Amino acid sequence: MITIKDLHKSFGDHEVLKGIDLEIEKGEILVIIGPSGSGKSTILRCMNLLETPTSGDIIFEGKSLVDKNTNIDEVRQNIGMVFQHFNLFPHKTILENVTLAPITLKKMSKEEAEKKAEVLLKRVGLYDKKDTYPAQLSGGQKQRIAIARALAMEPDMMLFDEPTSALDPEMVKEVLEVIKELAQDGMTMAIVTHEMGFAKEVADRVIFVDEGKIIEDNTPEEVFNNPTHERTKEFFAKVL
Ligand code: ADP
Ligand code: MG
Repeated sequence: MITIKDLHKSFGDHEVLKGIDLEIEKGEILVIIGPSGSGKSTILRCMNLLETPTSGDIIFEGKSLVDKNTNIDEVRQNIGMVFQHFNLFPHKTILENVTLAPITLKKMSKEEAEKKAEVLLKRVGLYDKKDTYPAQLSGGQKQRIAIARALAMEPDMMLFDEPTSALDPEMVKEVLEVIKELAQDGMTMAIVTHEMGFAKEVADRVIFVDEGKIIEDNTPEEVFNNPTHERTKEFFAKVL
């Protein structure tokens, strides 16, 4: 589905990504772990060109994202992204939050968009909140809405950047459950998370990023039980 080749990204003279090579197959669930500041978010943000790579290539569904002829808006519509801080539109109702992009970007009729949104809201267990506003929801509920909103565009791949890091502990589970269900439905996903139990459970593959490089890339069993680098062991000693 997506291939990243020798991706480099610098901010000024600070090289944040130092040659990332990565492939994600259709239906694969990739979990990205690593210390804070190692470049995890930058990798995700390059995948839908929220950041422009300094060099290297990203090929999504056969199209190079750095090719000037590629329609980036179209690519972005096929890649859903969920952030740590939900980014819901505060002055729109929950239903409007979910229908806005399909109506404006996909030119879907309001009726059709609402019908689809209602199905998605039922799926994340928040249909009864459809006429309320984001401020009336808990953090976990807001994040479930952010996921429904991303799914409303019918993306081929979903990117999650620490989707539970801003949540109170009791709300983490309800969000992870929604992501797990997506995994069971076969969605292709790249997930940055510090939830190691979740990573072990849902990942097909885990990569460990350290100082802008991938230093482990293997099954969760191998990465967690037999890490090849000292850095990875030190990280697990701190977080597990
Ligand atoms: P992670 O998600 O692993 O914590 P990030 O990808 O957010 O790491 O950041 C990697 C490094 O890049 C950090 O040192 C961060 O300060 C820097 N960085 C990220 N975005 C920017 C930016 N827009 N401008 C300058 N530096 C940035
Ligand atoms: Mg980050």
